[in-house]
Amino acid sequence: MTDTEIFPQLDIPQTLAAGPGPGNTDPRVLQRFTAAGVADHMQPDVLRGMVEAKHMLRDVMGTRNVHTFGVAGTGWSGLDVMFNAVMPGDKVVVFNNGTFSGIDGLTVRMKAATAEELAANPLDPKPAFVTIIDVPHGESVSGEIVEKALAEHKPKWAAMAHWETGSGRINDLRGFSDACERYDVMGLIDAVSSLGVEDFRIDDFPGVHGWASCPQKGICCLPLTYAPVSFTDRYIDVLKSTGCRSFVHHPILEARHWGIIDGKDAEKGVYHRTHSPYAVAAFHEALRITLQHGVAQRARDYAFHEAALREAVTTMGCKVSSNMTSLVVLNLPEELAGREMELVQNCRANGFGIWPTLSQPVQIRIGILNLLTQEAILEIATRFGEAMRELGAKIDTDAVRDGLNRHYDTDIAAE
Ligand SMILES: *Cc1c(COP(=O)(O)O)cnc(C)c1O
Repeated sequence: MTDTEIFPQLDIPQTLAAGPGPGNTDPRVLQRFTAAGVADHMQPDVLRGMVEAKHMLRDVMGTRNVHTFGVAGTGWSGLDVMFNAVMPGDKVVVFNNGTFSGIDGLTVRMKAATAEELAANPLDPKPAFVTIIDVPHGESVSGEIVEKALAEHKPKWAAMAHWETGSGRINDLRGFSDACERYDVMGLIDAVSSLGVEDFRIDDFPGVHGWASCPQKGICCLPLTYAPVSFTDRYIDVLKSTGCRSFVHHPILEARHWGIIDGKDAEKGVYHRTHSPYAVAAFHEALRITLQHGVAQRARDYAFHEAALREAVTTMGCKVSSNMTSLVVLNLPEELAGREMELVQNCRANGFGIWPTLSQPVQIRIGILNLLTQEAILEIATRFGEAMRELGAKIDTDAVRDGLNRHYDTDIAAE
């Protein structure tokens, strides 16, 4: 007899991933993932795939930064690499308007804390030289807010989320970059939610010196493949002079396996750590899909379908407080107020994967990552309407359907 139980094979059902992320992995990505042969991380096609992916990623991000590559893991892995240039005692300003920029702030506080400051509060350090500017949930970080804080504090670094997925708010990237340039501050941007959804080129924002994103939102790849990052030469020069306390997440050392050596493109990479041929093949295909669709066209498609969903839930009596184009964040109508969590749980129990907000106040988040079709939006609207009706809401189903038809007919007529 043994105490060890061997559980049955793990089956995970198909769900409709209609949340803030992870999004729906493209079938082409899954196909490449499972079709990759067993190969080690120095096999020539794996190395070639990484070099090709690096070049495609520069295109997707709109940059000539040599230090542009993928970090194995999720969004936080890429962000950890980016924030690794922040050293104990550095002066930093972080703009916080929700769950994710809040964690960016915590990451910065952990890295900027002196040994004494960290020991005083190891899980939530409060270093003297880090200033967190809190902007209320549901509001965007404006250029004026950034301007005022940088003028007052004149930090070495400033950090902001481009799109705050916690509340679905777009922050003012132009204002942030301009203010960073004006006060000679090095900007760091969490672009986890915006890359592959919004049409922007990072080289158009010269005040920003570090960028980090994730595989499984706008890039439609699998979680734990590669988090895109990009750094300017100035960021790399600063890092060269200070060093950083990581081998694996070192922005200069990690780049070597992607064929970025001594600040230049090399023909192939050199060993940094073991890379998975499955992950490389999947990431490579996801970038091919993004470029074939085109970043600009994709951004237009997101805006178009988000508008349809926004109109549908508004017709159902919900109030939308977000302005991202991949996500609708809403409050239920008055008669269902306070039952947001219950509704989300009912939906999730039925394989309809919408989300609540992760910080107060509780709102509902419905995402459309890689769900850019009339059928997908209709299904989301229908299932959401049914869930509201189960809680007793009266919904004018005809009006919702007519609105959606009008939205999509107009598009067809326009073509
Ligand atoms: C999702 C998200 C993250 C975290 O990404 P993980 O892939 O969960 O590690 C960080 N920042 C923003 C803005 C996000 O939307």
